Amino acid sequence: MTDGERVAIVTGASRGIGCAIASCLAKSGFAVIVNHAGSPNDAEGLVSEIDAAGGRARAVQADVSSATEMRTLFDAAEREFGSVDVLVNNAGIMRLTAVAEADDDAFDRAVAVNLKGAFNGMREAAKRLRSGGRIVNISSSVVGLYQPRYALYAATKAGIEAMTRILAKELGPRGITVNAVAPGPVATKLFLGANPPEQVERIKAMNPLGRLGEPGDIAGVVAFLAGPDGGWVNGQVLRANGGVI
Ligand code: NDP
Repeated sequence: MTDGERVAIVTGASRGIGCAIASCLAKSGFAVIVNHAGSPNDAEGLVSEIDAAGGRARAVQADVSSATEMRTLFDAAEREFGSVDVLVNNAGIMRLTAVAEADDDAFDRAVAVNLKGAFNGMREAAKRLRSGGRIVNISSSVVGLYQPRYALYAATKAGIEAMTRILAKELGPRGITVNAVAPGPVATKLFLGANPPEQVERIKAMNPLGRLGEPGDIAGVVAFLAGPDGGWVNGQVLRANGGVI
C-alpha cells in the first residue's frame, strides 16, 4: 500500500456488476483485488485495463462459498497491498425455479454461494478490516418484489439484508459501516441468461425509466458508499433499480 491508498476487495469481479464496481473503485483511487471463481482471463483483462489507466489491481481466484478460500483471498490482499479497507460482497448466482420444482442442489448452491459466500466475506472483514472500513453487500430488489420462481434467490438476499443491518451495529464501534445495495434487473450474463428476450422486454417496460440497469449504474452507488461522502450511511439497504419498486 502506498501513502493514503485505500484497498478494496470486490468478489465476483471478472464480469458484470462486480467488474464495473472494481473499475469504478480503481478510478476513485483504490487498489483493488479482482476476485473470480473460475474466469482468470476475464479477471486478468480487467487488471490490465486498471493498470493501463494508472491504477493498481491484482486478480485472485477464490470460491467465496469456502471459508478457507475467503481467508486466502484476504491473505492475498494483505500480501499485495498491506491491508484491506473495503469489502464488496458481490459474487452471486441465480437459478430461477418454482419451489415445487426446486431440487436440493438448487437450494444448496444458492445458499452456499450467495448467503454463505457473503457471510464468509463479512466474517473475515469483521476480523480484518482497518477501522474506518466499509462493507457493501450486493442484495437484490427481488427482496420486495416477490416474483414467482425467485424464492431461493430472494431468500438468500433477504438473509444478506438481515446480516447487513446486524453487522452494522456490531462494527459501528470500530468506525466500520455495513450497507447493502439492492439492484433491480441489470443487463449482465446472470440476468440475461435467466430471462428469454420477450421477458426482458416486459421487465424493461415495467420500469419507470423504461430500461434495464447497466453495471455502471450500480458501481456508482457502491463507490459512493465506499467513498468519503458515504460515511454517515450505515445499516441501510439502498435499492438502485430505476424505481421499479
Ligand atoms: P454475473 O453472472 O455477470 O457475474 C457473477 C460474478 O460472480 C462473476 O465474476 C463470477 O465469477 C462470480 N462468481 C460466481 N460464483 C462465485 C463463487 N462461488 N466465488 C467467487 N466468485 C463467484 O452476475 P451479475 O454481475 O449480474 O451479479 C453480481 C451480483 O449482483 C450478484 O450477487 C447478483 O445476485 C446481484 N444482482 C444482479 C442483478 C442483475 O439483474 N444482474 C440484480 C440484482 C442483484 P466467475 O466468472 O469466475 O464464475
